[in-house]
Amino acid sequence: MKAIVTGGCGFIGSHLVDLLLDMNISTLVLDNFSSGRPENLAHQSHNENLTIVELDISESDVCMKQYFTDADYVFHLAALADIVPSIKDPDAYFKSNVIGTMNVIQAARCAPSLKKLVYAASASCYGVPDEFPTKEEAEIRVEYPYALTKRLAEEMVLHWGKVYDLPVNSTRFFNAYGPRSRTSGTYGAVFGVFLAQKLAGKAYTVVGDGEQTRDFTYISDIVSGIWAVAQVKQCNEIMNIGSGGTYSINKLVSLLGGEVSYIPKRPGEPDCTFADISKIKQLTNWLPQVSFEQGVNKMLSHIDYWKNAPVWNEESIAVETKEWFDALSEK
Ligand code: UDP
Repeated sequence: MKAIVTGGCGFIGSHLVDLLLDMNISTLVLDNFSSGRPENLAHQSHNENLTIVELDISESDVCMKQYFTDADYVFHLAALADIVPSIKDPDAYFKSNVIGTMNVIQAARCAPSLKKLVYAASASCYGVPDEFPTKEEAEIRVEYPYALTKRLAEEMVLHWGKVYDLPVNSTRFFNAYGPRSRTSGTYGAVFGVFLAQKLAGKAYTVVGDGEQTRDFTYISDIVSGIWAVAQVKQCNEIMNIGSGGTYSINKLVSLLGGEVSYIPKRPGEPDCTFADISKIKQLTNWLPQVSFEQGVNKMLSHIDYWKNAPVWNEESIAVETKEWFDALSEK
């Protein structure tokens, strides 16, 4: 059995690779190390079932097909993430997330024994939805280039499934968190921001009044969900992966403990994200296992991981998010 994980050195990808290797599945990682880090899989370096190839899926001169001919599963997670850089540099996002996906699904057509290609889409496609929990059929409302490129690629994956009979499914993740989430670079997901602030003894920069909620989903539940979606006989399905709940930023702060400072509400942001997970529960035997309290405790037990992460404050966040406010504020 052979699996390919694009973006396998990234946060979610490396946890998926751990799961596949635990199941003795021979795993090939394709990663360009743009945000993924080989250190994320350093603990597997002696595992003979793991091969890591440095490769950029969006480069047209890269011949990927050779890697795919004997693949049973393809997990396509490689992508540029984050909102702010996608507004600053949309063409890089288009190249990586859309062209890159086309190269992967074209290569996957060369895998005669392919059981499933699972695409990692994003709940950002729902924008500010009308209903919570949000079903897969909710209207698509992309708000910024990252969300657009992830959605365009999802359409492509499903299209290849229909036109070329490629066995595909798509998963939409809600606010994944866990160890190995990014610790450097641009202003990103709240856990990394808050844990670095906690280590530095600084106030948590709470957006708005902190009453907004997110469907924070622990990484082990995300990757077990991806595997479950690979196992179903159905193809061309989209399935949300969430925690089964939604939790306020104030709740997160109370679990982490510490002072807060308030920063302005960000344009285009939903007050709630909350996945309707009835579809994945119906089609698979997957259930989320990690409660929010357990997940936060796991993060606290790994807090040293964030010791070199940037410590954001009100002023540096204002500078970093200026384009975001300029681009998305009501005109
Ligand atoms: N958030 C916050 N302070 C920060 C960064 C984020 O209070 O410094 C909040 C943000 O308003 C949102 C939640 O944390 O409600 C999750 O934000 P993140 O950027 O991680 O994910 P997304 O907004 O894309 O769901």
